[in-house]
Amino acid sequence: MKSVVKKTKNKGFVYLVGAGPGRIDLITVRGAEVLRLADCVIYDKLANPALLNLAPKNAEIIHVPKRTPAGGFSQEEINRLLVEKASSGKTVVRLKGGDPCIFGRCAEEAAALVDAGIDFEIVPGVTAGIAAADYTGILLTDRCYSSQVVFVTGQEAEGKQQSNIDWKWLAKFQGTIVFYMGMGNLNFITGRLMENGMAADTPAAVIADATLPTQRVVKASLGRLSEKCTEEKIGPPAIVIIGAAADSDARLDWFTKKPLFGKNIVVTRDAGGNAAFAAKIISRGGNPIEFTTMEIRPLTESNEFLRAVARLHRAEFDWVIFTSANGVSIFFEALQGLGKDARVFGPAKIAAIGSETAARLSEFGIKADFVPTVYTGEQLGKQLMCFTNLRDKKILLLRSQVASMELVELLEQAGVLNVAIYTAVEQKNETGWLIEKIDRGEIDWLTFASPSSARMFFEQVPIGVLNLGTVKVASIGPTTSEQLKNLGVRVDVTAGEHTIDGLLDAIEKTHL
Ligand code: SAH
Repeated sequence: MKSVVKKTKNKGFVYLVGAGPGRIDLITVRGAEVLRLADCVIYDKLANPALLNLAPKNAEIIHVPKRTPAGGFSQEEINRLLVEKASSGKTVVRLKGGDPCIFGRCAEEAAALVDAGIDFEIVPGVTAGIAAADYTGILLTDRCYSSQVVFVTGQEAEGKQQSNIDWKWLAKFQGTIVFYMGMGNLNFITGRLMENGMAADTPAAVIADATLPTQRVVKASLGRLSEKCTEEKIGPPAIVIIGAAADSDARLDWFTKKPLFGKNIVVTRDAGGNAAFAAKIISRGGNPIEFTTMEIRPLTESNEFLRAVARLHRAEFDWVIFTSANGVSIFFEALQGLGKDARVFGPAKIAAIGSETAARLSEFGIKADFVPTVYTGEQLGKQLMCFTNLRDKKILLLRSQVASMELVELLEQAGVLNVAIYTAVEQKNETGWLIEKIDRGEIDWLTFASPSSARMFFEQVPIGVLNLGTVKVASIGPTTSEQLKNLGVRVDVTAGEHTIDGLLDAIEKTHL
């Protein structure tokens, strides 16, 4: 897809972008695309901050929470900021929760840009009212109940003398009413509707944190709704839906039925690995909690590595073995820096430890010649020796400096050159918050995707936490489980398939 950044004279450009209702993958393709072009991102409280990872690393990021007595920005200040940043020639993304124009003060921002002669584009977003309904199985326009929908603000602009909401009309509305910003006034809203003739037994629902792992739904009659929300301590941000459609078929409530829904799962890899793992947890309805145990550092500037690449280029190896997806990415990044590409492999065959490593290779146009059926170093070595005669063959093994030596020892009958392509360095963290969460029973799983992350995690967090709360431990495979056991950790689940998906499948099974 081609993207076009329009620039007039030396002025910048502003994209007014809808971030979607919360879940990061509900931003539009266009929204994600323009975020990648941003020099400056100005974002709201309701836009998921994880979306900021899409912006270039050097982009300026400005958070503009609404003005409250505790601080924040007035609308005029935000308008001025947009004009100022764009006037200095920047490509600015103004990222707003949901759709930028639904109760989003887009009118004022666009008008300020027009006045300043700055070009802009509006990128629609999935608005919270629609997302909340869809994620609860409430069908806003179910043809049996409702032929019309109305979006209403539960909190009118400050200083407005007279209400713009025609309560009489709304109370008689034959369709679905969707209130935004209604939680502060819920009692007032339901009261006005009933005073104006809406039946107290009209079905109603409140959906808080829609599309997020913390989503909560309260269903009640109009007359009971406010009280029930107080009882269940439901607060903003929430959408209020009123009308026959709110009495939806419970079987359609698909999101909260996902096996990992509401499960708090700690991921303990490096930052990049954690982000990928977290995205998978979110897509299964779970709540990832990122604890970065280590930093991956390439060792591709070493003479050892450079010599190995030169030998590979001279077709001196019969096999090249990759033992992680990280290793593949780091290898290709280094090749690029050397002005080389995949042709460096020449006639050499390529082995990958598992499906994730093979998938990463295929991103670079390489199909692995060999992947074992069980994704461990031991099985890779043993199965490769059955697959082909390695005697007198030359193997280049590209691995992590901190991995176990098992594979190297197994391959010793062949000529194996073992090159550490990266290392993992422990990253020290604040741990108090995590220990407290575990103690309060707010963590369901600690996950470990490698022996080193297990070691580095328990160097920081005392093993005693495993006796707190209801926390369980899940491991990606036997090597990691072995390390955990050596550390004195009880392993509750070991994945059958030694991949991140396999790990999540194993956790899911325990919740079915
Ligand atoms: N432009 C936004 C709405 C901004 S007004 C949009 O199109 O969605 C803010 C209100 O949006 C909140 O008070 C709440 O009613 C609703 N809202 C935003 N995100 C929400 C979420 N994840 N779950 C429920 N309601 C949400």
